[in-house]
Formats: sequence, C-alpha cells, structure tokens
Amino acid sequence: MITKLTIENLDPAAVLGRRALVRVDFNVPIKDGKVTDETRIRAAMPTIEDLKDRGARIVLLSHLGRPKGGVKEPKYSLKPVQAVLERLLGMPVTFIEDPASPAAVETTRRLPRGAVALVENTRFLPGEETNDAAAAKIFAALGDFYVNDAFGSAHRAHASTEAVAHLLKPAVAGLLMEKELEYLGGALTAPKRPFVAVLGGAKISGKIDVIENLLPKVDRILIGGAMACTFFRAKGAATGTSLVEEDRVEMARQVLAKAGDKLVLPDGGVVAQGLEKPDTRREVAWNAVPDGWGMYDIDAASVGRFAGIIGDAKTVVWNGPMGVFETPPFDAGTLGVARAMADATAKGAVTVIGGGDSAAAIEQAGLADKVSHVSTGGGASLEFLEGKVLPGVAALDDRP
Ligand code: ADP
Ligand code: MG
Repeated sequence: MITKLTIENLDPAAVLGRRALVRVDFNVPIKDGKVTDETRIRAAMPTIEDLKDRGARIVLLSHLGRPKGGVKEPKYSLKPVQAVLERLLGMPVTFIEDPASPAAVETTRRLPRGAVALVENTRFLPGEETNDAAAAKIFAALGDFYVNDAFGSAHRAHASTEAVAHLLKPAVAGLLMEKELEYLGGALTAPKRPFVAVLGGAKISGKIDVIENLLPKVDRILIGGAMACTFFRAKGAATGTSLVEEDRVEMARQVLAKAGDKLVLPDGGVVAQGLEKPDTRREVAWNAVPDGWGMYDIDAASVGRFAGIIGDAKTVVWNGPMGVFETPPFDAGTLGVARAMADATAKGAVTVIGGGDSAAAIEQAGLADKVSHVSTGGGASLEFLEGKVLPGVAALDDRP
C-alpha cells in the first residue's frame, strides 16, 4: 500500500554499525526545563528501538518550537528531552550542541553500536527553515543513511526533512511515518466502504480543501462544529452569535449544491447565551437559534444520527470536534462521536483521527487506544487529507 521504502526494507548489513540519521518529532511542551507531555517521544520509540536492536548508531534530529531563524534561544533547547530519552531507553544519550562543529561529526563516528545521540534543535541552524542546501549538508554529515519518522513535520520542506533526504541515501520512512501513511493514505486511496468522513472544528475556511478533496472519495460526509453554522447560514437560517465566517457563506452554498445527499448536517444544536453561561443551554432545531444565542455543540439527536452512520461504515476519517469540547458541557457531541468511532472500530471498521484538537478530544475521552489510528501530525494530517503531497514524504526513496 505505501509507496515509500521503510526501515523494514533495509538489509541487516545496511543498518549494522551504520549511522542512522533519524528525523523525529520531539516538538514537545516544556515547562521549567521539564517535558510536560512525552507522547511524541514515546511515539518515536519503536523506530529508535528497532534501529538500536539492529546495531545502528542512532543520531536524532528534531525541531522544537519556533525560535527565530538561527537564534539559539535557551527556552527552545532540546536538552530537556535528553533526560526523557535516557529514561525511556534505559541508557545514556549523548547530546550534540552544535551540529555544524567538527566535534559533532566526531561524536557520531565514535558512537557505539546501538547507542543514541540527540542533536540540538534543528531550527538553531540558519538555513533549516529555508531548506538550505548548506544546512542539509551539515545534517547529512552526521549520518550514513536517513530515516524520517517525523510525520508531523513532513508538510514543511525544511533542511532536516527535505533537502537532507536528497543527500543521504537510502532515505527511508520510520515506523511511525509508515503507520501514518498506511492509515491516512489507505483511507484516501483504497477505503473499505462505506467510507465516511466526519468534519468539524472552528472554521470552514481551514477545511474547505479537505471537503473538496474528500467529497468525491467518500460515501458520506458528516459536518459538525462551528463549521456547520456557516452551512446553516448558507441554507438561510439565522445563527445568532454562533461562530460563522460571513465571507464563506457563499462557498458553503456551492459545496451544498455540489455535495447533495452526501453531505449530512446536524438537525439541531446546543445553544446558550454565551460559553460562560452553560446553565442557559438548551437544544434547538438548526434553523431556530434565538437572537443573541450561540450554538456550541450538536444536539443529542444528531449525535445519535451521526453515530448510526459511523456504525455502518467500514472506514471513518474524523477531523475537527463537534463543539467547544474544551468547555463542558459543550463536549457532549464530540464525546459521542468519539464513542461511535470506538464502537465502529470494535465492529471491524478502520477509524482514523487527524487534527490536533480532534486528537486531544479522543485522548480526553479516554478512547485513543480504541480507534485504529490517531495521527500525530496536526497540520500535516490536514494537508494530507487535502490531497497535498508532503515534501518530507515525497523526498524519501520509492519502493522498487
Ligand atoms: P483540529 O485541530 O482537530 O483540526 P480545529 O482546529 O479545526 O480542529 O477546531 C477545533 C476548535 O473548534 C476547538 O477549539 C473548538 O472549541 C472549536 N469549535 C468547535 N465547535 C465550535 C462551535 N460550535 N463554536 C465555536 N468553536 C467551536
Ligand atoms: Mg486545531
């Protein structure tokens, strides 16, 4: 199914004793010098462990945060990740402060088999974010072959994700990257049917390309979140203080006309006099939002209807919460869809979640391990669903 070479395709001789330059996504939250969420580090462990077991010498590259191009701001140092890695791996990890120094290359050459080094934030190097060839050369000198396991960074053509893959061969996908491509790519290219997409979130403007790309591929597309309100407006309803993108109402109208029965909107929603006034909440029909009230969730009947459609599906892709899930009780619709995703998975459907907030929502529901795949790439998964080619993926070697 996937068209790129992965570390699983590498001969033992191509791995043993060789320096694997591995781009990972360690863009983790850090507070007071401590990593506060290790999820992304743990997600890279299968690839690191596999290479370690096969006797590679592993050099890890990642960005962290958004330091101004080439400025070494201490708060964006990857140093706090070193301690987490050492704990997870149960062995010391070498830290390479400056990849451009001759000492850095020496350090990688002296690494024992199975040992791991972590390079300081790639964005401390001028040229990383401009995909500069000189920066890529500096990174390439630290390895003998290249592995990209940073799906979440693959939508950006940076020196450590794109240019370096042309300099170091073979350039292959890691296990996490492989899983992302398998599930997201599989859904888009060869879905078992019925194939249902569930879209929500704040803005239709950010998701219109996803809708356009998915419409011809899916059997049904269910719309919730604030995005639904822009569609309600397109159908002529008043939407009170709901989040609506006025300048996208016409676009929503065109999508409605094109989509026909494929596109399913909620029949009603949960409205309140404000997010901070949950006690005023009540359910209304989609076209009966009172003046001065806002819609913050889909109603229970729509959750049931969506759950029924999800339950009959063989493939489901979900991006974007159904309501303001960060503010209970307006999380009910999102939690209901999360439950429906888990139930569909138990019945054998392939279920995939993309998008940062949607991933947070399924975590919050405690159901992340009850669906087939939760993408680790927020922006990257969105661009993938838009049908875009991700430069960090494109640069990897094709399977013969
Ligand atoms: P993702 O990160 O999964 O792609 P988005 O970023 O597009 O999702 O949207 C998530 C945001 O949408 C959340 O912060 C949520 O509060 C907001 N949202 C969803 N429904 C509504 C609504 N009815 N009104 C206002 N905001 C909403
Ligand atoms: Mg988001």
